Amino acid sequence: MFIPLSFTITDNLPEQARQLADEAGFYRFALPQQYGGREHPDTNLWMSAIRYHFASHPVYGGGLGLANDLQNEHSIIGNFPDVLMIHHFGTEEQRQTLIPARLRGEFRITFGLTEPDHGSDATFMSSLAQEVRGGFEITGAKKWQTGSHHCTHFLIFARTSGSAGSSKGITAFLVPRETPGVRITSYEWTLNMPTDHATVKFDRAWVPEICRSGHCRSRTRPRANLCP
Ligand SMILES: Cc1cc2nc3c(=O)[nH]c(=O)nc-3n(C[C@H](O)[C@H](O)[C@H](O)COP(=O)(O)OP(=O)(O)OC[C@H]3O[C@@H](n4cnc5c(N)ncnc54)[C@H](O)[C@@H]3O)c2cc1C
Repeated sequence: MFIPLSFTITDNLPEQARQLADEAGFYRFALPQQYGGREHPDTNLWMSAIRYHFASHPVYGGGLGLANDLQNEHSIIGNFPDVLMIHHFGTEEQRQTLIPARLRGEFRITFGLTEPDHGSDATFMSSLAQEVRGGFEITGAKKWQTGSHHCTHFLIFARTSGSAGSSKGITAFLVPRETPGVRITSYEWTLNMPTDHATVKFDRAWVPEICRSGHCRSRTRPRANLCP
C-alpha cells in the first residue's frame, strides 16, 4: 500500500506525522476497538511486521524518522502504554475523557517509573505518596521523563504501602504539570544533544484523590471523577 505523504517542515512536524498516521489508519492499530484500534489477537506480531515494513521501505524507511522504532516520540504506530493502563485500571470517567483527549493530543503525559537511584530495580523506588485529607502528597524524584517539555500531566508511580522491593503497594497518579511542589530540575543530554528527557522532583506535591489511577491498598475502588 502506498500512502502519499506531504509535509510542511515546522516545529509541529511530529503533530503532522501523528495526524497523517491516524488518517492512514496506523496510529491506533494496537488499541482496543472502542478507541479506534484493531484489537487483533496477534497485535504484537502485527506491530513488528508493520514497523519492519516501514523501517525497510525504500521511501519511508532508512533509519529513524517516520520509520521509527517503538520508543520514538511520533511513532506512526502509536505506542500507548498509558492508554492501556487507563483502559484497564482507570475509572469509567477517566476512560471516556482522558483517552480521547490523549488521542487528540490534548492530554499529554510522561511515564514516571525510573528514578535517579532506581532504574532497573524500579520496585525499590523512593517516591512515596502519603494519603492526606482529600488526596495524596507525593515526595520523590523521577528521571528520564520523556516528553516533559510539553506534557500536561506527569504519570507518577509512587509507593503508597508495602515494602521496598515489593511490586505490591505501588500506585499511579496523574499529576497536573503546574502542581505546587513539582519542579523540573534538568533536561538530560544524550548523544551530545539536549533532549526532552527530564529529571522531575516532587516535594510534598498534593494531588486530589481523583488523580489516582487504579487501586490503592487502603481503598477498594477509585472515585469516578476526572483529574483536573
Ligand atoms: C532516552 C531515554 C528515555 C527514557 N524514557 C523514560 C521514560 O519516559 N520513563 C521512564 O520511567 N524511564 C525512561 N527511561 C529510563 C529507562 O527505562 C532506564 O534507563 C532503564 O530502566 C534502566 O535504568 P538505569 O538507566 O537506571 O540503569 P541501571 O538500572 O542502573 O542499569 C545499569 C546497567 O546495569 C545493568 N543491570 C541492572 N540491574 C542488573 C541486575 N540485577 N543484573 C545484571 N545487570 C543489571 C543494566 O542492564 C544496565 O546495563 C529512559 C531512558 C532513556 C535512555
